[in-house]
Parts: sequence; structure tokens; C-alpha cells
Amino acid sequence: MANELSADMLKVALKSIDDFAQRELPDSLLIELDERDEFPEELVRRMSSGEELGLQLVFVPFEYGGMGGGALDVYRVCERMAAIDLGLATSELATQLGSDPIRVGGTPDQKREFMTRIAKDGVLFAYGATEPEAGSDLGALKTVATPENGGYRISGVKQWISNGGVADLYTILALAPGGPSWFVVDAGVDGFTHGEHEDKHGIRLSNTAALFLDNVYVDADRLIGGVEGQGLVQAQQVFGYTRLMVAAFGLGAGWEALNRAIAYSRKRIQAGGPLSEKPGYTHKLIVPHAVALEAARAAIEETAERLDAGEGELQVEGAIAKYLATEAGDAAADASIQAHGGYGYTHDYMVEKIKRDVRITRIYEGTSEIMEMTIARGRWQEHLKSGGDHYHALARDLEALPAEVGADVAALACHALAELLEACRAARLTRNQHVLLRLGALIARAEGAAAFARRAQRAADRRLHPKAVKTLKAPALAAASRVYARDTALTIATEAVRLLGDPPSGLASIHRAQAGLLDDMQTVAEALYARKRP
Ligand SMILES: Cc1cc2nc3c(=O)[nH]c(=O)nc-3n(C[C@H](O)[C@H](O)[C@H](O)COP(=O)(O)OP(=O)(O)OC[C@H]3O[C@@H](n4cnc5c(N)ncnc54)[C@H](O)[C@@H]3O)c2cc1C
Repeated sequence: MANELSADMLKVALKSIDDFAQRELPDSLLIELDERDEFPEELVRRMSSGEELGLQLVFVPFEYGGMGGGALDVYRVCERMAAIDLGLATSELATQLGSDPIRVGGTPDQKREFMTRIAKDGVLFAYGATEPEAGSDLGALKTVATPENGGYRISGVKQWISNGGVADLYTILALAPGGPSWFVVDAGVDGFTHGEHEDKHGIRLSNTAALFLDNVYVDADRLIGGVEGQGLVQAQQVFGYTRLMVAAFGLGAGWEALNRAIAYSRKRIQAGGPLSEKPGYTHKLIVPHAVALEAARAAIEETAERLDAGEGELQVEGAIAKYLATEAGDAAADASIQAHGGYGYTHDYMVEKIKRDVRITRIYEGTSEIMEMTIARGRWQEHLKSGGDHYHALARDLEALPAEVGADVAALACHALAELLEACRAARLTRNQHVLLRLGALIARAEGAAAFARRAQRAADRRLHPKAVKTLKAPALAAASRVYARDTALTIATEAVRLLGDPPSGLASIHRAQAGLLDDMQTVAEALYARKRP
């Protein structure tokens, strides 16, 4: 992405979001909308209005009247939005997703027309890919686009479409004679209707609806890119970027829940003192989740920086970031309910809503299992191409970093992973899909540990990106990175025993590296409670 925001502009944008939320989005309103299952259309449109928040401008390239935010900007904005309300964040995401096929694959005229309308008029988009029988496997789509009178007739059904009942414009994936292709369809044209607002587990204020297309006519200039058969490629091209957005959602919602638990534990007195002073509480319900979220942040920030540097699609990295952040966010929200005891189990407490909301991030934009598969397949190729050296090489890079940031233990994890991958290759175990997906999960953990060690080192050297989040100071980040690396190495070693019956050669070193865990957890706990809340 071009034209990124300056660090000061990003600060102003985040402050505008906070000010808007403080004025317009009190917890009581968000809980009420959730209970009433109501999409706040007026609020959402005001958030996309240039005269009010103008949130969409961050996402629209400069040349079309937007602010031209880069991937780092978009991650920071998505994290902040998710901390406020994941349903509202999803509505904004839907416009970005809906316009993404145009952004990456549209003709110059299409880009000018639709991106300008998003920037200037704040039009809402919906992204119509999923169908009742084509979810993870989009290639199984049944919606068809039949050429007629120089244009196309589209027929089919789309399922679970965010903004489905309220958007002004829709991008619809349909099977044209030349293959799957995206089309832009206006709301309200003949033959185009939508279903009821779905009654969902979470993000209840986000409008989700099925779409019904019955011989809907569109002109030929509504075929995105003007060439049939580009649809799946265009969808793939944006995954590195859009999955980063959903990763930021997991991070923002997870941290918001945890921050509420931290605040609660300072005041809640049990057995003669505040819960915040009880390690049985903090070291179980708070610290491991903060650590996992910060590991995910390391993966997100690194991927965002690389996307902004023009490093291509980064699909595997996007999948790793999404997987780590959404799994960590969901687990953090669950722990935050536990941390609130009985109060956390009631609708009056936001953590209960956040837990239901954040659950969707493990499903949409590719489920966690599809992420595991994408990661495993992508890195399996690297393992084969390098003759089994890929993760040994990463381990050697980590060994060159100071051990204080957990890099030595992350290196042990990577060596163990390389051995596991090679043993799976020799025994042809990846033919079993369960093994392949477990490898995907372990790869994500190992790369998360590596990214975390590098980030902790950059923090120690005062080299973090000016737009990076800096709420935890370098010594606390290093301690958190060590906690994460230890757990990652042990998890990979244990999984090797589970899958192969044999531990990795470095098992004794991995065991020895566990020393110091309690001290590091205490350091992280103290830093979390001393930190200024973002
Ligand atoms: C609230 C909400 C909003 C959404 N918004 C949009 C939107 O705006 N636009 C849009 O196009 N879509 C949207 N979706 C759809 C979403 O992206 C899909 O639900 C998701 O991709 C999963 O597809 P599915 O529901 O068909 O599940 P399935 O693909 O049927 O998956 C069911 C289960 O099987 C697993 N699975 C699937 N394939 C495999 C496999 N090959 N091997 C092993 N396990 C597998 C999955 O991980 C999952 O656990 C939304 C969904 C929800 C719930």
C-alpha cells in the first residue's frame, strides 16, 4: 500500500476514534444494541461520514480522496475499533473487504468511481463470497453470471454477508463462462433481495444477512477488472492484508477484555486483599494471555511493516498473524470472564459481550483450521525446498540475537520444529490431515516466538517502528518473550512425542530452559499492573 499516514496523523486518527466512542458509544448503548440485536445504521453512517468520524478515509488510497493508510495504520485502527465494539468494526471491515477486489483488480475507471464514492459519500459495501454450500471451499460456488445483451445476468444465493441487509453496493463472486469473477451490484436492483438480520451468538449489532440474486442484470463494466476468471486470484491477493485486519480485531478485543479484568482485579477484594496481588489469579488468568496477545502483536506488526515495504502478498504471514491473534483474543476474553467471577457471566459486564463477539474472528476471513492448513502447506514447501533446513536456518538467525529476549529458547523451538517436520516427511505423516494441521499450529507458534524475540530486541535497542504500540517497556517485553518461547519449545517437543513417539534431540535443553519461568511471569505481572492503560 502506498502513501502511509505519518505517526502524528495516525495518533490524530486514533484520538478521533476514541473521542467519538467516548461521546457516542457508551458501554450501556453497546450492551443495549447487542440485546436488541439491532444494527445502528445511523451511527455506522456517521462513522463513515466525512463530516463526522470519516473512518473509511484511512483505508482509501490518497489519489481517490482517502488518507491512504498503510497496513500498519490499518492494524492500529482495526485494533482500536475492535476494543470499542467488534460489531461496528465488522461493519467497517465489510466495506473494506467489499471494495478490496476493486482495489487490487479493478480497472482504472472502476477504482476511480467506487473508491471515490467510499471516500466522499461514505457508501457502505458488502462482500458476497460465501454461499450456503461454499464457505471454506469457495471454489464450490454455485452463483452464476450468464452473458446477456453485452452485460451479465447473475443468479444465486450468498450466505452470512456482513452489511448484507444495509449496504449500498455489493461485490458478488459468481461463476462466469471464463471462471469465478467479481461483479459490483447496486442495492435494490430488480431481482436482488436479502434475508433477515441473522440472530447470532456475538457481534449481534453487526448486520449479517443472506443475499438472493434472481436474474439480476449488470452492465459489462461491472465485471471487476474487465476480464472473467480473475475472482479467486483477486480474493487471494488481499488475504495477507485482510487477515491482518481480522488479526487486529482479535488483538483489540482480547486486550480490551483483559484490560477490564486487570482493572477489576485491582478493586476486587477476596481473602483479605485485592485479586491483583494473588499470583494464583494473575499468573493463570492474566499473564499468559497478555503474553500470547503480545506474541501475536509481534507477528502482526512485522507482517504489516513488510506489507508496507512492498513485500508482496504475505499470505502465510497473514494467516499466522490471524491464527495467533484470534486464538489468543478468544482465550483472553474467556479468561476475563473467569477473572470477573459470577459478575463476568452476566450481560451487564462487557467481558461477557466481548467473549461472544471475539469468537467470530476464529471463523470469518478463513477459519482457524483453514489458517492451520494455509500455514502448513506454505511452510512445508519451504521445508522441502531447503532440504529440511528452513527452521534450522531461522534458529541460527535467532541464536545471533541476545538470549535475554528469549531468542535462544525460540531457537530451540525452531530446531525442534525442523526435526519434527523432517521426521514427518520421512514417515509420510503429512498425508494424515490431522498431522498437517497440527504442524500448521506449531509453525505459527514457532514463528510467533521468533517474531516476539525480534520485537523485544528492537524495543531494547529503541528501534521499534514509530507507529508501533509501546505500552510495555523493553524489560517486560523481553520477560514476556521468554515466557512465550519456553512454552512454545515445550509444546513443540510434547507434540513431537505425541505424533512420533520420539522427543526432539534438544529435549534436555528445552527442559533446562524452563528455569526462570516464575520470575519472568512475576515481571510481566508487575509491568501489566504498573502500565498506563492505552
Ligand atoms: C457473522 C459472520 C459474518 C460473515 N461475513 C462474511 C462476509 O461479509 N462475506 C462473506 O463472503 N462471508 C462472510 N462470512 C462467512 C465466513 O467467512 C464463513 O462462515 C467461513 O469462511 C466458514 O465457512 P462455512 O461457514 O461455510 O464453514 P465450513 O467451510 O463448512 O467449515 C465448517 C468447519 O469445517 C472446517 N473445515 C472446512 N473445510 C475443511 C477442510 N478442508 N478440512 C478440514 N476442516 C475443514 C472449518 O474449519 C470449520 O470448523 C461471515 C460469517 C459469519 C458467521
